[in-house]
Amino acid sequence: MNVHDSEKLAGLLEREGYSRAESASDAGVILLNTCSIREKAAEKVFSELGRLQIIKRARPDLILGVCGCVAQQEGERIFRRAPYVDFVIGPRATASLPKILENLRSHGRKQAGQQLDLEQRDDSIEFPFDEIRRTGGATGKAFVTVIEGCNHRCTYCIVPTTRGREICRDMDGVLDEVRSLREQNVIEIEFLGQTVNAYRDSRGRTLADLLLAAAKIDGLRRIRFTTSHPAQMTERLMDAMAEAGPVVCPYLHLPVQSGSSAVLKRMRRGYDRDGYLSKIEGLRRRIPGISLGTDVIVGFPLETEAEFEETLTLLDEVEYDTVYAFSYSPRPGTAALSLGSSPSEMVRLERLQHLLAHQAGIQKIRNRRWIGRETEVLVESPSKMDPAKWSGRTPEHRVVNFPGSTEPGRLERVTVTGSSTFSLKGELSGGIA
Ligand code: SAH
Ligand code: SF4
Repeated sequence: MNVHDSEKLAGLLEREGYSRAESASDAGVILLNTCSIREKAAEKVFSELGRLQIIKRARPDLILGVCGCVAQQEGERIFRRAPYVDFVIGPRATASLPKILENLRSHGRKQAGQQLDLEQRDDSIEFPFDEIRRTGGATGKAFVTVIEGCNHRCTYCIVPTTRGREICRDMDGVLDEVRSLREQNVIEIEFLGQTVNAYRDSRGRTLADLLLAAAKIDGLRRIRFTTSHPAQMTERLMDAMAEAGPVVCPYLHLPVQSGSSAVLKRMRRGYDRDGYLSKIEGLRRRIPGISLGTDVIVGFPLETEAEFEETLTLLDEVEYDTVYAFSYSPRPGTAALSLGSSPSEMVRLERLQHLLAHQAGIQKIRNRRWIGRETEVLVESPSKMDPAKWSGRTPEHRVVNFPGSTEPGRLERVTVTGSSTFSLKGELSGGIA
C-alpha cells in the first residue's frame, strides 16, 4: 500500500511538471512517504530526516516534505523534532500537495511558513488513475486501490487513526482503471485495501462482484487482492473466488495474528481460533491447492507461553506457505497500551525466532512438494541472489528463480527442479504460457 501511495505522490509531482531526479543530492523536492505500523518503521523516518538535513543545509531552497502515516501520527511534532522540514501531509490529504508546493516555491519558506495538512478527506480515494506513476510498468503488474481506511479497532493497531474510516471506490471506476491498465499491457492486477474484503460500493457491490467482473476482462491473466480480514471472508466471497476460475490466483493472505482465542479476544479481532480455521477449511474445500499466507504478532500484552504455543500448533494445522511474523510494538493511543505489560523484549525475540524456525520447517516441506511440477511464472526481474538468473512468481505467489532467455512481464512455463525455505528453482520448459 505504501508503494502504491508513493506511485500516486510521484504522479502528482509529474503533473506539476517535475521529473525524477537521479539522486537525493540532485533533487529540488524530496518527499518521505512514511509507515508507522511499528515503532521501528516510524523511528527510521527521523534518522532519514537527519541524513537529509545535511543536503538541506547545503541547499536551503530544497523542499522537504513528510507524507504518510507518520505524518498523520506525529503532525506538528515533526516540525519540533526536525525544524528544517517544510511540510507535513497525512495520507488522506495528498491532494493538497500541489498547492503546498506552489506556496513554498512562489513565496519561499520564510513567508509561506511550515505547512501542515492532516485533514482526512473523503475524496482522497478518487485519484485520477491515468496520473499514477506506476513503477511496476515493465513487469506487467499493477496495484489498484479499491478501499481505503479501516473500520476495525484491533487493540494494537495504529492504522484506523492514521488512515481514517473506510471509504470505497465505485466499482465501475475500478473496472475502468483495470481496462486502461490492460491497454498498457498489464496482465496482473492486485486490488488493495487495509481490509480489501470489506469492499462495498455505493450500489452495494462487493469484492465478490468485483472479482467476477474483473475476471471477464479480456487478456487479464491474474487477479490478486490484499489484505483480507478473516471476519469478512464470507462464503459468497469464497464462492466467487472459485467461480471466477484460475484468473483469481490460488493464493490468499489471511492474517491470523495469534492461534490463541484468548489473545484474539484481547486483540479485538472479531473471530476465534475455530472460526478462523473454519474459514481455511472453506477455502480449501472450494479451491484445493490454494496457497496461504498470514501475519502473526508475538509477545502481545499478557501473552503466556501456553498462548504462544497455540500459535505454533495453528501453524502446524494450517501449514501456511508464507508467514510474516512481528514482535508486538506498542503504538501511541492504542487500546492495547492499557491491557497490561507485554513479555520482555528478550522473551518476545525468543518467541519470534522460535516461530520463524518452526515455520521454516513447514515451508521447506511444502516447497519440496513442488519439485518436478510444471508451473507458470510471471517474470519480474533478475534474481537478487544470482543476477544471471530470472526471478518471478507462480500464481500461488511462490518465488521461482531460473536461468534462460526471457524478460520481465512475460509469462513462462517453468519446471521446478529444486526448492528451499523461501523459493523454488526451475528450468524453462519452453513455449510461452
Ligand atoms: N489490515 C491488515 C493488516 C495491516 S498491518 C489486517 O488486518 O490484517 C500489517 C501487519 O502488521 C498486521 O497484520 C500485524 O501483524 C502487524 N502489526 C500491526 N500493528 C502491529 C503492532 N503494533 N505491533 C506488531 N505488529 C503489528
Ligand atoms: Fe489494523 Fe485491524 Fe484494521 Fe488491520 S483490521 S488495519 S490490523 S485495525
